[in-house]
Amino acid sequence: MKYCRFEFEGREQYGLVESVAGREVITRLLLAAPEEHGGVADIPSKTMTALPLGEAKLLVPVRPSKIVCVGRNYRGHAAEMNQEVPKQPLIFFKPPSSLLAQGGTILRPRSSQRTHYEGELGVVIGKRCRKLAVDEDVRPYILGYTALNDFSARDLQDVDGQWARAKGFDTFCPVGPLVTEQLDPWAGVGVQTRVNGELRQDGNTRDLIFPLDAIIRFAAEVMTLLPGDLIATGTPQGVGAVVSGDVVEVTVEGVGTLRNPVLDE
Ligand code: MG
Repeated sequence: MKYCRFEFEGREQYGLVESVAGREVITRLLLAAPEEHGGVADIPSKTMTALPLGEAKLLVPVRPSKIVCVGRNYRGHAAEMNQEVPKQPLIFFKPPSSLLAQGGTILRPRSSQRTHYEGELGVVIGKRCRKLAVDEDVRPYILGYTALNDFSARDLQDVDGQWARAKGFDTFCPVGPLVTEQLDPWAGVGVQTRVNGELRQDGNTRDLIFPLDAIIRFAAEVMTLLPGDLIATGTPQGVGAVVSGDVVEVTVEGVGTLRNPVLDE
């Protein structure tokens, strides 16, 4: 199952995405939000004229009540930041107002001189989740996976004790282009970031310090995770600055490429 959210005939719609002759194509309109049904299987749908994903006006594929992020979850990234590897998941929030769709412009705020991309695997929660049992499988709580850019004002992050400002600007959370359940992050999913076509990050989720079960269990001890909530699982090594005019692409194996230009505010 793969789906996207897009603007179609003047309305926000969900679309089923299928591979047709090697291309991702929207083939059916889903008549309800997948996160409210725990997937697309039981959602009524209707046919539409096939629309290539690349030609659709894509919207952010999720509508989370919160975006829970994990800091320093790859050893290589902790090392490049001259930081210790955390002993337990280090979680923080990005506000839903920071969400940005495929193709949307990331705006560098005037208050920051050093803005960094962070390519990450995003996890979409599909089922209300609170205080899991120690041996409980987290997979039934996961609706699917997407690509995410945890864009960061690194200079403000260094100055502030809390990261709400550095991570929370409008447009600082590009997500997309679609959501898929056809991934196994425990086995390994490639996460790459390119700037103007040049490879900068080349990680794999098999190197996560805290795998998804540890992250979800840890977060659900604190807060109720709701359907549609988004988890940013951490960025591999290779983060770096971008300036106005750059184009950042985050490619998650099996999801596709999330592409966003960068401009000064
Ligand atoms: Mg991050």
